[in-house]
Amino acid sequence: MSTELTRNFSIIAHIDHGKTTLSDRLLEHTKTVSQREQQDQHLDAMDLERERGITIKSHPVTMEYTAKDGVTYQLNLLDTPGHVDFSYEVSRSLAACEGALLIVDAAQGVEAQTMANLHLAHEQDLAIIPVINKIDLPSCDLPKVNKQLEDIICIPAEEAIPASAKNGIGIEDILEAVVERVPAPVEDADGLLRASVFDSVYDNFRGVVSYVRVVSGSMKRGTRIKLFHTTKTYEIKEVGVFTPGMSKRDELKAGDVGYVIANMKSADEVKIGDTITDNTHPCPKPLDGFKEIQPMVFSGIYPVESSDFEALKLAMGKLQINDAAFTWQSESSVALGFGFRCGFLGLLHMEIIQERLRREFNMDIISTYPSVIYEVTKTNGEELLIDNPCMLPESQEVQEIREPIVRVYIMIPSDYIGEIMKLVMEKRGEMEHTETIDETRVMLTCTLPLSEILIDFNDKLKSMTRGYGSMDYEHAGYKPGKLVKMEILIASEPVDAFASIVHQDKAAPYGRQLCKKLKEVIPQQLFVVALQAAIGGKIIARESISAMRKNVTAKCYGGDISRKRKLLEKQKKGKAKMKAIGKVNIPQDAFIKVLKND
Ligand code: GDP
Repeated sequence: MSTELTRNFSIIAHIDHGKTTLSDRLLEHTKTVSQREQQDQHLDAMDLERERGITIKSHPVTMEYTAKDGVTYQLNLLDTPGHVDFSYEVSRSLAACEGALLIVDAAQGVEAQTMANLHLAHEQDLAIIPVINKIDLPSCDLPKVNKQLEDIICIPAEEAIPASAKNGIGIEDILEAVVERVPAPVEDADGLLRASVFDSVYDNFRGVVSYVRVVSGSMKRGTRIKLFHTTKTYEIKEVGVFTPGMSKRDELKAGDVGYVIANMKSADEVKIGDTITDNTHPCPKPLDGFKEIQPMVFSGIYPVESSDFEALKLAMGKLQINDAAFTWQSESSVALGFGFRCGFLGLLHMEIIQERLRREFNMDIISTYPSVIYEVTKTNGEELLIDNPCMLPESQEVQEIREPIVRVYIMIPSDYIGEIMKLVMEKRGEMEHTETIDETRVMLTCTLPLSEILIDFNDKLKSMTRGYGSMDYEHAGYKPGKLVKMEILIASEPVDAFASIVHQDKAAPYGRQLCKKLKEVIPQQLFVVALQAAIGGKIIARESISAMRKNVTAKCYGGDISRKRKLLEKQKKGKAKMKAIGKVNIPQDAFIKVLKND
């Protein structure tokens, strides 16, 4: 089949607008799967993904469709993960396509995620086919959604296809539009092998399976390939396409989307976005767009029982074989003992890994307050990347600290605009613009420090708008900020697990909050315990736990004064010893309580 008869496209949509249902309909309509198989396939999805209504890993599917012109086309549908943590995978998948279906719910209209995804699709110059789904709903408002498409997305309303994925309406029109409006792939004239890796999965039996789009040339079993980024070479064991199960092919040619299996043992041997070429006749340079995936969010993970350390290490290794975006290394904390410093793509990715450690590996873990990664320029010109607040050099050695910034799209009912703008300001955000979507809704575009939206921004947005607000974000580089390291001292000793990098203006309230919480969870000692928050040696907040006066003489009734004195001496010594080592007996669960409460 020549590339003229191939169409590569993906589906972009806000969560719940019907992407999964529509994909299923397309597979059924093209007889790629029967209805029964379809259900089985659904059951295969990871529990976690189903619970959260997101897809993290899904594979492309090749369909054959005989169009109204009587010609049979090969349609490759590349699914994209539905969450911003995985936006690099999304952008690589989109880069492997020439077109995209943009699904908008006929009752809900355009949402924040729709905009963020559309942005990515525009960057790749894709042909966009708008699909207005769920037209069977009584609350469907076609004129309203059409107007939104024209006003906000600048797509003429007549290009939109009305559909109901649920009732199978408009499916044929969508397939015809893919054939007519999505351009066929164009091959590089030199015919040398160039294949772009847009995702990969780890299979227990077959090792790494890389998902590729062949841009030019061809590859088959036995071809010796080279990966541009790692410069490693491999012999291909198998190539094939997904229909939707893995189905072996003799060859993958220009325009094809499918999989490659070579002798790769772990997920980090193949980098998403890398270019595969023929080792004997290599192409002169890799395809554009490669970027090393960088973890954006970091946190310490520690076993609750220190004896579980080895088991946890084993579990981490197993997770990493599957997930190259997850990074970890050993670290130790005075407060929490031996554990690991872990890097994640974002908060959702972090929660998924923590959940998997708990569920699949039965690990009882505690994780420290998440931190972003900071760029630091030292006064001596040295550049550092800091993912652990404890590693930040002393303030006199620091010339500048830059923090990651995100562009956030927030869709809210117009009534809440004042409150939400206030929230954005509180979180050190800057408004870029405000757009009216329809009579009742507005979309705010603003930039915010990533660290400010990490913990509770989305929750606050939801509760302030009674659940009607939605948001999405994209990374928008780094910006200098007035950031400082805040340390927590317990009885004058800094406690590493509580160190954090905070904005200067927010340090005092955050410090007070932490000291207060610590006061609640640390039991009284035999001496007064000072709890302090400090920046560069300067105390900015303090609390103290009063001493417990153990009534050691209570048991001595009456006269024996010498015995009484002896006991008091002993108590004093004990006090002195405690103070001398400067350690407070803090129960392990106190750390857990404070870190979990945040
Ligand atoms: P996704 O999150 O975009 O993958 O959305 P799903 O395909 O899972 O659909 C979300 C919900 O909308 C499900 O309950 C579907 O049954 C429902 N749904 C999808 N398409 C339609 C449609 O055309 N009409 C109606 N009424 N419901 C639909």
